Amino acid sequence: MQDPYGFLRHPRQEAGKQTVRQRVRHWREYVRAMPESQAARQARRCMDCGTPYCHRYCPVHNLIPEWNELITEAHWQRAYQQLDSTNNFPELTGRLCPAPCEDACTLRRADQPVTIKGIERAIADRAGNRVGCGTSPAGEATASGWRWSAPGQYAKVANVHALSTNG
Ligand code: SF4
Repeated sequence: MQDPYGFLRHPRQEAGKQTVRQRVRHWREYVRAMPESQAARQARRCMDCGTPYCHRYCPVHNLIPEWNELITEAHWQRAYQQLDSTNNFPELTGRLCPAPCEDACTLRRADQPVTIKGIERAIADRAGNRVGCGTSPAGEATASGWRWSAPGQYAKVANVHALSTNG
């Protein structure tokens, strides 16, 4: 953990959403993407508390304290590898999961929980945007199931999300 007082220095800040007036005019994604700098700052709020209920209550047992620490040190690729080791579609869960990890976060006992869902999406989107179409990780079977996308499609999906967010 880089900063043991990170949760005191940085208030919870979510990625934000478009206003209702904006979002009723289109069918695209209206939850904004969390910039990398913001995601890293929010990850500093993780206390690496030693009783990671976030991990316990995550349905796929994501290694949340581990990726929080990695992105505070700008190890985004390693953070993605950690995320990918437990989760076959983080670009979806980072958007659609009801985030029981945040409800269970130890920090929530005294403060607002870590923005785990937004951080997960930031890690997945960054990995998708860095991988060129056709060169993404192969669609191999994994211990926890099968990857739904063929090689290359992951990057396409992530880029579509990025375009819709920006557009
Ligand atoms: S429960 Fe909250 S504070 Fe503890 S490791 Fe998980 S995200 Fe960090």
